[in-house]
Amino acid sequence: MAKLDKHLYPSVHCGIVRAALLLLEQTSHPASKRFSAGDAEAMIGEAAAPDKLGDRQQGRGLHYYCAVRPDGTALGTHPVLGGYCNGKGAPSPSPLTMLDAEYRAALALYRAGKYYPAMKSLSRALHFLADICCPPHSCGLTYFSRYGAAHRRYEGRAAEIFWMPEGTQVSEYTAAADWAKRTAETQSIPFDAYTGLLKGSRPVSGGEWEHGSLTEICNVLALSGAEHLSAVIDDDEVVRDQSITERLYCSIVNCAALLAAFDRDLDDRALPVWEERHPYWLKCFGTAFLVSEDPLYLLFEEDGTVTLSTLEGAYLAVGKLGRVVLTDLTAGLETHFRFGREPLLTLYPGGDQDHLVAQLRGQLHSIRRIPAWPGSLFQSQVSFVLLNQKPEKAKFIFS
Ligand SMILES: [Zn+2]
Repeated sequence: MAKLDKHLYPSVHCGIVRAALLLLEQTSHPASKRFSAGDAEAMIGEAAAPDKLGDRQQGRGLHYYCAVRPDGTALGTHPVLGGYCNGKGAPSPSPLTMLDAEYRAALALYRAGKYYPAMKSLSRALHFLADICCPPHSCGLTYFSRYGAAHRRYEGRAAEIFWMPEGTQVSEYTAAADWAKRTAETQSIPFDAYTGLLKGSRPVSGGEWEHGSLTEICNVLALSGAEHLSAVIDDDEVVRDQSITERLYCSIVNCAALLAAFDRDLDDRALPVWEERHPYWLKCFGTAFLVSEDPLYLLFEEDGTVTLSTLEGAYLAVGKLGRVVLTDLTAGLETHFRFGREPLLTLYPGGDQDHLVAQLRGQLHSIRRIPAWPGSLFQSQVSFVLLNQKPEKAKFIFS
């Protein structure tokens, strides 16, 4: 048996994406017609990118979605986002928030006719979904903790099991096709759960928040992954192999369901997907304040970032110092911000969540930590909403 090192093999993320696509094809699902051979290659090529050093979504502990501690203690979810924390104990960015943002970006890019970056964003969404299905990621067994070796052992063996289904290495296509075939024979695809994915968290009475179905999906997956904690940590290889096989099936069927949902959501013109040439008004959440009287337009970039711009060329950006400012193109500021949980916007100035200051009408607005919550989520991160129409009784921060 080869040494347990996942780097001896292609990334399992690539295999899961290919298997999910082949599963739709083998089960004659109509969504399989959406994705061309070129689309498949674009997705497979991007599937492991978020793990690469220097990637915009790479970072110590960001790909963890911790439903339990390594000792099995259950962890809570965030009161507003509804999701679990990442490996650093912060609720954002997490696999849930990045999955959410990439899925929406993929829809928006596709509708803007930018198919290649759309496929890359969709593949990134699949990456985070697969990470949530992977027990070391839902039990907080981070590489930088004392459980790093158990994590590596689990994923190393998963690569071996995926790429050498009969004990000998076969081609990437053969291995994925084989997994798709066995998945089709033994599992069902949870299509029904993947509805209403664009519905974000909403406040309901009593200060409570109602969470979207993507949050529900991710939390159920993380909790089921947490049941595999001992299979990751303990030394029983038979139990671990069973666990790995089960979770690989879990990843493949969930990725197939997300691909099918993408195909369906593209055709639903009523969905609040951001359109590139559509006017939007940016409103402070929970108040009547609009950022500007003039509408803003979205400009999608190839790297998945987006800028909000007025027709005159003024645009909203997050400056390097972490100030939200509306400025002229001539000022030379070119920092973009990323979308988070639409209709709420998440602002990640250079990924730095600790120095976000909103400057509106020349005044610095207070940025509050959500009380009694450890980590670094600020109220401001969930305090902007995109509107399709200018509301009647609006007050403007800029006019
Ligand atoms: Zn990852």
